[in-house]
Amino acid sequence: MKAVMKVAPGVGQIELRDIDEPAPGPGQVKIRVQAAGICGTDLHIYKDEFRSRPPVVLGHEIAGEIADLAPDVSGLDPGMRVTTETYYATCGVCMYCRRGQNNLCLNRLSIGSGVNGGFTQYVIVPAKNVHRLPQSIDFRAGALTEPLACVVHGVLNTPTISPGDVAVIAGPGAIGLLTLQVVKAAGAVVVVLGTDVDERRLALARELGADHTVNIQAESPEDLMADLTQEGLGADVVYECSGAGPAAAQLLKLVRRRGRYVQIGLFGKPIAWDLDQVCYKELVVTGSNASVPSAWDKALKLLDAGVVRTAPLITDTFAITEWENAFQKFDSKQGVKTLLTPVG
Ligand SMILES: [Zn+2]
Ligand SMILES: [Zn+2]
Repeated sequence: MKAVMKVAPGVGQIELRDIDEPAPGPGQVKIRVQAAGICGTDLHIYKDEFRSRPPVVLGHEIAGEIADLAPDVSGLDPGMRVTTETYYATCGVCMYCRRGQNNLCLNRLSIGSGVNGGFTQYVIVPAKNVHRLPQSIDFRAGALTEPLACVVHGVLNTPTISPGDVAVIAGPGAIGLLTLQVVKAAGAVVVVLGTDVDERRLALARELGADHTVNIQAESPEDLMADLTQEGLGADVVYECSGAGPAAAQLLKLVRRRGRYVQIGLFGKPIAWDLDQVCYKELVVTGSNASVPSAWDKALKLLDAGVVRTAPLITDTFAITEWENAFQKFDSKQGVKTLLTPVG
């Protein structure tokens, strides 16, 4: 089967290769991939800014149907429509694993970076990672369960938002637009910030419920914040979803004293950030790393209820043979979410 693989360490080093079709071992399920999302992480792997173990098939945002399963797996059947968590292996015995924080296990191996992922026809995952897709969610929308679970984890698992809060989100990419919807569902007033390249994405943000959007290259968000927030003091909470250093610096200005700063985007490198402000403003700063199982349950409920919509985020779909164009399109920020579909 054809697979998009990181074949060696270093920048680039991604190729379409033919590999053998895998078979499930004990406790494992074989998923026939129907759609797989390209994530910022895949681009970071391309640019050698994120650790991977080549040769490895990329792709961790997957929806498909169960093609086969090991005899010891119960509760799942061939043909079921599913998505999957990304942890192929965690140690199960460390402090984090025992506390249900398996995203933080030091021995974690994930599909799409540590072991073979979903930019191909079939992927093998542990049965315990598999979640059934609700009837209302098709494969394409279902492929975005993973980024939604990451957002749910970042926004809700350490509680960051309350009804009536004014929230500012920097970066109207897929993660920002999912954050917008989760924060909106929690009852906040939401402002989304973007730049000149984001005009279409900011329009989509408004369609998905943003109360205000600001192109920060055309206008300063500070006047709006003065009008919108209590006594003009600033946002109650800010979410950095762009992975751009200037956005992180700007959010530090827009958040009020005793406000919350939440880092969801990845920069891929160290950035300059004025930590004195964390003291002066008495900020609570949180970050999130991937997701935990409970965030998947919440994400699927939000999708099934129609409170969060992922389908409008999908702007491009390519066959995996076109992976180079797909990566380029995604990197150019012309669209929002790019999907890859396998070729038989
Ligand atoms: Zn992802
Ligand atoms: Zn562990």
